[in-house]
Amino acid sequence: MSEPVLRVEGLAKSFGALTATDDVTLDLRAGEIHALIGPNGAGKSTLIGQIAGGIAPDRGRILLAGEDIARLSVAARARRGLGRTFQVSSLGMELSARRNAMIAAQAVEGSSFRFRRAVRRDRALREAAGRALARAGLPEGRADVPAEELSHGERRQVELACALALKPRALLLDEPTAGLGAEETEAMAGLLDALRREVPILLVEHDMDTVFRLADRISVLVRGRVIAAGTGAEIRANRDVRDAYLGESAQCWR
Ligand code: ADP
Ligand code: MG
Repeated sequence: MSEPVLRVEGLAKSFGALTATDDVTLDLRAGEIHALIGPNGAGKSTLIGQIAGGIAPDRGRILLAGEDIARLSVAARARRGLGRTFQVSSLGMELSARRNAMIAAQAVEGSSFRFRRAVRRDRALREAAGRALARAGLPEGRADVPAEELSHGERRQVELACALALKPRALLLDEPTAGLGAEETEAMAGLLDALRREVPILLVEHDMDTVFRLADRISVLVRGRVIAAGTGAEIRANRDVRDAYLGESAQCWR
């Protein structure tokens, strides 16, 4: 099998006495959606934060295309092709969808655009942003609307576009359907389904229908530890997972 695009080995993080992630090992392969599920507080967002770089791990390795990026800054990881979205929206709310995506595109393309004339540079950034917004499914007619006037679902699309504008090798998506209605969730799921062919996705998702529909593989995190990993069918049949499910109300699985 080919080398995984992203591999996490023995990643650990404690907040004081609380162990948020505990010796987590998992990988992300080309073409796949790998879902990360587990109860509220299991450490899913902490794990995403460690991979993206906002949270410094206590231990462990993070390999992106074979290179250990665990000690690089968030920006350096983004430039190497790690795109992410946040559980809570990170958009500039007064800025248009396009401007948000342009700022994201600038983060990686900045150095190659530096020597261009301002007008041409702006045009190149606008084009990169436009492509990312289109890939994220935002209708062209909505691109110049301020984020604060967009629907929840459209904002999630813009967040995805910002991640795509980095031309990522791997995407880390933390609950991209949080706060969305059924129709918007369906639209996002369709988008991710198609996107996996271009860029593999590590997906934190609380809606189990969406997880089992989309995921090629699933890792189950409980109290910071991966208690099971496998295909949807394997996870459904796993006794430890069932016990953990029965121990928590279904509502807590997010
Ligand atoms: P999940 O995303 O799976 O719901 P989190 O990664 O957000 O879980 O949180 C895992 C645990 O770490 C929780 O108990 C949470 O309260 C704790 N935690 C997360 N971030 C911090 C922080 N910055 N400081 C202290 N505790 C934190
Ligand atoms: Mg979370």
